[in-house]
Amino acid sequence: MRRKLAAGNWKMNGSIPALDMIGALKLKHPECPCDVLLCPPAPLLTHALQNTAGSPIFIGAQDCHAEEKGAFTGDHAAAMIAEIGATYVIVGHSERREGYGETDAQVAAKARAAQAAGLTAIVCIGESLQQREAEEALDVIKAQLAGSVPDGSSGETLVVAYEPIWAIGTGKIPTMDQIAEVHALMRSELQARFGDEADSIRLLYGGSVKPDNATEIFALNDVDGALVGGASLRAEDFSPIIEALARS
Ligand code: PEP
Repeated sequence: MRRKLAAGNWKMNGSIPALDMIGALKLKHPECPCDVLLCPPAPLLTHALQNTAGSPIFIGAQDCHAEEKGAFTGDHAAAMIAEIGATYVIVGHSERREGYGETDAQVAAKARAAQAAGLTAIVCIGESLQQREAEEALDVIKAQLAGSVPDGSSGETLVVAYEPIWAIGTGKIPTMDQIAEVHALMRSELQARFGDEADSIRLLYGGSVKPDNATEIFALNDVDGALVGGASLRAEDFSPIIEALARS
């Protein structure tokens, strides 16, 4: 049985006062049947961890370097993220693939480093609008999954997030059939590669998940939760998404 996951990606947003929303989430979801994760910007991680003390809310980073240490100004190693007590790291978000030219091989190397440090890697994949319109989405997903997920991954060390680029921050989402089709494909590709272990790997949908569409999305087969951007910044928005997941 896969434990559902509501993950929030704050991107380059937030502040120390904004972390007060963790207190509101703690009050609202003291015994949530699903996992709740927040990924604030790196400078806020330690404060976020202090705010989650005594609660089941997990904290993760938004990226890590593939190397253990070295001359990589501005980067942070997976072991550093683990050392402060964070437990997840997002890798391969489309904003990094597009903005920094990260390739599938680089994303896989980052995920491998994260797993070696004891973190769970959330590997993001997803097609562009042009690829969707050219009916290439499924091929793109297959290739990104094969290229970005490291060998030896398990349900403990890997989460995959399907995030169509054109749905991120736009208010547009795929049809429910399109989401279901991609998630079924991801599950079968992972099964072909990892056998029974694939059944324990959580698959998230991400891209304009909001309180008013969450219930419908979470009802789909093989959708084990969501990676949420904008709607994870305020407890008023994130909390109903967590509730919808808990009900699903
Ligand atoms: C994201 O950044 O991963 C994301 C899904 O953003 P939003 O929910 O704002 O579309």
